[in-house]
Amino acid sequence: PPLEKDSPIVVVGAGTWGASTALYLGRRGYTNVVVLDPHPYPSPISAGNDVNKIAETISWRPSGGEEDDRVPVETHIAARTSEGWLNDPVFKPYYHDTGFIAAASTPDAYEFVKEHEITEDMSEYVPLAGTEFRQAMPEGVLTGEFPNWKGFWKKRGAGWVHACNAYVSAAEEAQRLGVRFLTGTPEGKVTGLLYGDNGDVVGVTTADGKEHRATRTIMTAGPYADQLLDFKDQLRPTAWTLAHIKMEPSELPLYKNLPVLFNVERGFFMEPDEEHHELKICDEHPGYTNFKGPCHDPAAESSGSIPFAKHQIPEASEQRVRNFLRETMPQLADRPFAFARICWCADTPDRRFLIDTHPDHPSLVLGVGGSGHGFAHITSIGGFIVDELEGRLEKRFKEAFRWRPETAVNRDWRDLQGRWGVERRVMDFGEVKEWTQVRDGRDY
Ligand code: FAD
Repeated sequence: PPLEKDSPIVVVGAGTWGASTALYLGRRGYTNVVVLDPHPYPSPISAGNDVNKIAETISWRPSGGEEDDRVPVETHIAARTSEGWLNDPVFKPYYHDTGFIAAASTPDAYEFVKEHEITEDMSEYVPLAGTEFRQAMPEGVLTGEFPNWKGFWKKRGAGWVHACNAYVSAAEEAQRLGVRFLTGTPEGKVTGLLYGDNGDVVGVTTADGKEHRATRTIMTAGPYADQLLDFKDQLRPTAWTLAHIKMEPSELPLYKNLPVLFNVERGFFMEPDEEHHELKICDEHPGYTNFKGPCHDPAAESSGSIPFAKHQIPEASEQRVRNFLRETMPQLADRPFAFARICWCADTPDRRFLIDTHPDHPSLVLGVGGSGHGFAHITSIGGFIVDELEGRLEKRFKEAFRWRPETAVNRDWRDLQGRWGVERRVMDFGEVKEWTQVRDGRDY
């Protein structure tokens, strides 16, 4: 049936993209929307449930003229995203324009940084090498030797966002606009898609045994979507690792308004959060899959990499975090972790998003494939997904985000996909022998 403003719409997953989709559905006046998730938002297994994420803003805006077509689609996407962080009252309070430093430790990686992590306009950057990095933060923060480090410091137009608060803000505004969240119980756990006689998707089933019939179903279950639909190898659920270090209250004034420090071979950190006073550090690597590790049942229907929740990280990851700190902030390198977890995302082969109507199921719209950079787009992604739902996604975005199984034929599951890291290989949780033993009852 055609889509009307009061048509029943089911959104699968109230994570980062589900919250954004709910927000845009509410804003466009849809009155019969339900978002399903086994967890209440902020979902403890959502990649967006995190104290901070890296985000960038650009000042370019499309003019609507022909010259827009000469601008790469990535710039158009960035413009939409930036608009939200800079002007949308739902998101604006959570963007911190503190700057961004991109760095590397070996010549090859440095060339990569020059090509992929910075723009052509060198006037925006201050080059840094070795102990020069210290000048990017107040004296006493970066006390390390930065051995062989080289990089670029962008003082404005980038920084970090308070991820969890922005995600909750989107979900709350959606709720205020009338979107229903059926979350936090088996009623919200989607167990499968419902197919009609003609093969189209007509809703979903949930773990409480119910059927939710809908005119349109929107799949925004992130890496978990791979278990609900055959994505023809277009999604690779992959996990990254993060750890927190507790700061003393007396240290907080010094560690405030810091630029993000990112070394493509070591890791990155952002300033401590104000609520828990914790500094989050991620070690950089091409990710961990779970093809043969915990929770993986080779007899199960899905043979893909299976996400699982764990509030610990591999011991090797802890060592990488500490090595990164020894080079940058040795004063913190031996502090115990206050929190650690693995965090799942889903990579497409080209790391572009996958937002499209399913070719065989015209009532199913997909919004997946965050590919490690999907948080920053929470401000705009729901707009693209609802545009697709309404059949008016702009051609340039439609082309970039399309269903593209041909790109995943004989996919190399170990492909680095443009990522660096110390060991330069995709790891699997099946190989991990030792995990950290962090004691913490808190859920982010
Ligand atoms: P999620 O936010 O993970 O949401 C999936 C949702 O599906 C969850 O709420 C879950 O509860 C729900 N769900 C699961 N199973 C079911 C089911 N059966 N039924 C219903 N619901 C279900 N991006 C950036 O832009 N900048 C960064 O700095 C950045 N850093 C990152 C660091 C790490 C360590 C990680 C892991 C990711 C990072 N990302 C970053 C990527 C970004 O977080 C993700 O791309 C984005 O959050 C993906 O959103 P999503 O909605 O697709 O998935």
